[in-house]
Formats: sequence, structure tokens, C-alpha cells
Amino acid sequence: MNTLEHPAGFTPADRIAAIDVSEIVAISGRAAAMKRAGAPVIILGAGEPDFDTPDHIKQAACEAIMAGATKYTPLDGTPELKAAIKGKFARENGIDYALDEITVATGAKQILFNAMMASLNDGDEVIIPVPCWTSYIDIVKIAGGTPVIVETTAADGFKLTAPALEAAITPRTKWVLLNSPSNPTGAAYSEADYRPLLDLLLDHPQVWLLVDDMYEHIVYDNFRFVTPAQLEPRLKARTLTCNGVSKAYAMTGWRIGYAGGPKALIKGMAVVQSQATSCPSSVSQAASVAALNGPQDFLIDRRDSFRQRRDLVVAALNAIPGITCRRPEGAFYTYAECGGVLGKRTPEGKVLETDRDFCAWLLETAHVAVIPGAAFLASPCFRISYATSEAELTEAMARITAACATLQP
Ligand code: PMP
Repeated sequence: MNTLEHPAGFTPADRIAAIDVSEIVAISGRAAAMKRAGAPVIILGAGEPDFDTPDHIKQAACEAIMAGATKYTPLDGTPELKAAIKGKFARENGIDYALDEITVATGAKQILFNAMMASLNDGDEVIIPVPCWTSYIDIVKIAGGTPVIVETTAADGFKLTAPALEAAITPRTKWVLLNSPSNPTGAAYSEADYRPLLDLLLDHPQVWLLVDDMYEHIVYDNFRFVTPAQLEPRLKARTLTCNGVSKAYAMTGWRIGYAGGPKALIKGMAVVQSQATSCPSSVSQAASVAALNGPQDFLIDRRDSFRQRRDLVVAALNAIPGITCRRPEGAFYTYAECGGVLGKRTPEGKVLETDRDFCAWLLETAHVAVIPGAAFLASPCFRISYATSEAELTEAMARITAACATLQP
């Protein structure tokens, strides 16, 4: 589904011609337009916390502005922020990264972009388990790499297994890209889940590991978050540990992401960044120092409210005939299977053939926007982002339940 319309006379470069505008953005845009036109639409599409950035972080940004921190900063992060990140990795993950093994960029998205641009030659392969956040695939393509898609299933908890990884590795494999907890499934890798994958990678020295730990702080039911560089020091020299302040601290608009990894890769990433953005925002970096060094206890309260919302959504989904939803370990998404409602007829007389049909119909008739699994390369499913109020979620689940009850065999 390419919704990108190029103005007449413009021919896009080959490297972007095959890349679509994100389906999430397209659906959210359609839902927002319906809302503006007066429809009571509830949008469960956005991948950002509904909480506000905490006041002490905003305060630090205001103070930084008034103190004159309004100029270019060192290329890939201020010394203060790098020190705060070093402290975070040591404190929370037990990983010792030197300051020159740390980089800061304009969001974790740019971290991924810098890493792929710095490391991939044309045709290098990147193994990506799906369902996944599809930016991975598009970033790899823009950087000239070849995404190698490996399917995971709900039965495996939507986690990559060692046999599936082994079958995907070739002499051209450059990276394996893992995301825990995952967008879109909420699945998170425990130490036992990671161990066979890390053991396998020890036997394949040409393969590097990129882990996206963006949702680290949003895990439930005493799940113990772990990350590969902490679990397997022998892989640290070819692991890039990516993280950011967007999700944990409700700072999506501040655009700060960071990573720890081997010095040579970090330097290559800085070269890419130097010709893209020069440096991340000075003010946002000062705010991120306050986020990482400041009080962390509010994370627990926020996590508890996310958990209540998860439980509400998972219970409501599993009560709908034809829909099943695994209870995710983390993030703020559910990824439900909806094969049981496909093939059914709507009151308007349309047969729902795919998850895209199902989600489009929910938006039109129930005025609830959710994202079809097709957008994450794993169907028939749909993703709900439950980063919204319990009242809205309750109403949305009631509408989805009522809509599904009108489907005829
Ligand atoms: N990784 C994952 C898994 C995400 O879901 C997102 C945001 N949707 C990002 C990275 C990027 O986050 P940001 O650029 O805001 O740091």
C-alpha cells in the first residue's frame, strides 16, 4: 500500500521508490480526519505514552535554555549526557561502556539509521524476526541492505528460536535485529529465551547483534528485563545496545535515542550523523540528563497503570469469539489473532477476507482505529496500542465486542 504521492515530474531515487509510507501513519491520519469531521473515533494506533513528560525533566530543559545551552553540541552527545548514559547502562544493565562506546542521536530511530548506514554494503543481509516494527525493514533497505524476514508465531511467544535463526544465517549475514519488549507484540525475551540465540551467535563471528531495548522499563508481572551485552560478554564486541528516552520517560517529541557498542562502530555512526544532523538537540540532551539521572520511581506507577490497561484489553479481546490474544510481557501493545472473524459477513454485506478488511471495517462502523497485522508482516492479526485512558479503552473494547457480535457466518 503506497500512499506516498509524488508531485508530477518528480522521480524518486531507487533507494526510496520501493518504500511505503508507514501504514500506521496512514491509518492514524485517516482516523484523525474522521474525528475532525465529527465522528467519535477512538485511536488505538499511536506508539507513544499518553502520560506527560515529568516536570523535573521539563524544568531541566527550561534551565538549560536560560543557561545558554542553545548551541551545537559535540557531534554524538554532550559529555554530561554520555556520562548519564554510562551510569544508566552500569546501574540498570550491569554493562560497562566507555564514553567513546556511547552515542546519542535524534531518537532511537536515528540510532538504527546511523548503525545501518555505517555498516551495510549493498546486499548485506539483516535478519529481522516478524512481526516487527516495520521501520527496521525500511531503514535496512535505504541503507542498501537486504532484510531477511523470519516468521515467529504466537505459539513461540512471537520470539525468534535458535533453529529459525540458524536457518536464516548465510555468509552475507551482517546483523540480527532483536527488539524486546517488542513493538508490535509486547513479547519480551527472558534470559532463557536469549541464551540459545546467543550461543548460536558465538559460532557465527561475522554476525553482529543489534538489540532495541526501547521498552525496557515497561515490563509486567515481575518479568526480569535482560539485554544480550549483559548476558554474554563474549558478544559485547559485536553487539549494539539501543535505547532511548521516548517511551520510558514519555519524551517522544524530544527526539533523543542512544546506544552502547564497540568503538569502531560508534565512530562510524558519528560519521553518518555528522552529515545528517550535526548533533542532537542541545536542549533535549539536557532534559535527557535529568531523565536518566533523576528520580526513577514514577516509572513504577506508570508501569502499573499500563499493566491494568493490558489486563483490561487482553481480557476483553479473549472474550470475543474468533479472537485470541496472548498476554504480553511488556511494552504497551497487544497483538491479537483474528483468523476466527475472517470469512464472516458484516451487516453491510461485506465478507471480511483479511486483517486489513477487519481493521478498516472496525474503523468505519465501530469508530475504533487499530492496526492490521499486515502492517507488521504477520497476519491475520491486529495491534492495539493501549497507551490511552482506561475510560477510552473500556469504550473501545465495548465497541469492538459489539461490532464483532453483528458478524454473520
Ligand atoms: N524502536 C521501537 C521498537 C519503537 O517502537 C520506536 C518508536 N515507535 C523506536 C524504536 C523509535 O523511537 P524514537 O525514535 O522515538 O527514539
